[in-house]
Amino acid sequence: MSVSFHLYNTLHRAKQPFEPIVPGKVGLYTCGPTVYNYAHIGNLRTFLFEDLLTRTLRFLGNDVTWVMNVTDVGHMTSDGDAGEDKMAIAAQREQKTPWELARFYEDAFLVDMFALGIKRPDVLPRATEHVEEMIALNLELERRGYTYLTEEGLYFDTSKDDQYGKLARIKFDEQKHGAREDLFVDPGKRTPQDFILWFTNKPNHIMKWESPWGTGYPGWHIECSAMAMKYLGETFDIHCGGNDHIPVHNTNEIAQSECATGKTFARYWMHAAFLNVKGKMSKSKGNFLTVQTLKNSGYDPLAYRYLCLQAHYRSELELAWEWVDDARTKGQADSLDTAAASLKRLYERVARTSDEPLADQAAFDAAVTDVLTALCDDLNVPKAIGVLHSYGSPRLWRHFDAILGLEFETRAVQPAEVSVPSDVLELVDERQAARKAKDFARSDAIRAELLAMGWEVGDSPQGPTIKPAG
Ligand code: AMP
Ligand code: ZN
Repeated sequence: MSVSFHLYNTLHRAKQPFEPIVPGKVGLYTCGPTVYNYAHIGNLRTFLFEDLLTRTLRFLGNDVTWVMNVTDVGHMTSDGDAGEDKMAIAAQREQKTPWELARFYEDAFLVDMFALGIKRPDVLPRATEHVEEMIALNLELERRGYTYLTEEGLYFDTSKDDQYGKLARIKFDEQKHGAREDLFVDPGKRTPQDFILWFTNKPNHIMKWESPWGTGYPGWHIECSAMAMKYLGETFDIHCGGNDHIPVHNTNEIAQSECATGKTFARYWMHAAFLNVKGKMSKSKGNFLTVQTLKNSGYDPLAYRYLCLQAHYRSELELAWEWVDDARTKGQADSLDTAAASLKRLYERVARTSDEPLADQAAFDAAVTDVLTALCDDLNVPKAIGVLHSYGSPRLWRHFDAILGLEFETRAVQPAEVSVPSDVLELVDERQAARKAKDFARSDAIRAELLAMGWEVGDSPQGPTIKPAG
């Protein structure tokens, strides 16, 4: 079976055949969560896409190293340098140290990932544990003449990088100073797109480290460059994130990494479209949906996974969520109800292994190729699901669960055989005899007795039936 994997590379705005640097080995970096609150289900949609990508690449026989950073310092309330560190604000709000806060939400994040069937990334580096690498990278940028200092800290000078903005394809000279960040503009900053590599002069910031530019903390973008290169090398295969990361965060990652090494940073850039809950969902606005909200509302987290599987990762997904209580802990969405119901039907179908249309090996292999063809076309999971439905083969669904992650092994099972106690069986026989003798008073009394014992007796053309009541 050889279907070549094509993916949409944001860098080239085109689908391209994917060829890793070392055949059979894939280095994948994905921008991870900022752990100042629970992940919302929008963040998790992006991580779910990355999980599908990893699983597909592995299914195709690749040895994938998946690195996802944990941002526990330096992500400001804007994606640029303005505002305050999200971690610092949240720590104050929750009366915790930023470190306690980070560990708490990192743990919660891993629990949510698990609930959604997202495999644990191979490496989950924390920004606060890689400050040394970030300083080293900044020093290299300084040595190569890409930086300048202001009262606020060390900046990357984008005017020195003639490739700057190649990912986002933005014409920066048309932007006005301060246009990108209306919260605060450092008067020492030379152009609006220049960005912080290291913050200094923030005496109230709790998380601080010594550096050649003064005591302070790293900028958010440098985190990803330093950690990606540490674990995957200066040039690696794929970098992923949400669409919102294209114009600022990923653009800056490319600039600082490529200027520091003189080499290509990531070769393929993939970006996931947003999940929109009635148009807007934002972790910083405090009003957002979490996996816990789904659970409180009676939804199986895998129903959300199934919903996401049915939309292509480059298409926005709308979720019309209605809150059903004032405390905003419970709600309901028609599309999730539909996904939950069809997942239930799917489990029932996959459980009926005796009804297998693809028992013939050649037919099965051809069907596998059909599904893979969809998956290899820029991870077209919705199309693959359509193909799977059209075959209606429990065996085929199970084969692809390594990618789908719907846990057929444990969930698509026939209800267990119920063993009926012998005294119950005796009563069933007695009732049958009473019916034959047309002693219906007696047979009704036995039916009532059985019900009281927790068993429901019925009659079928083949004879009496018995099952647990309720
Ligand atoms: P953050 O925790 O804010 O650093 O974001 C984690 C990831 O979630 C990033 O890759 C974002 O691009 C992505 N993201 C943020 N909001 C959404 C959303 N509504 N839908 C899908 N992905 C999102
Ligand atoms: Zn990142």
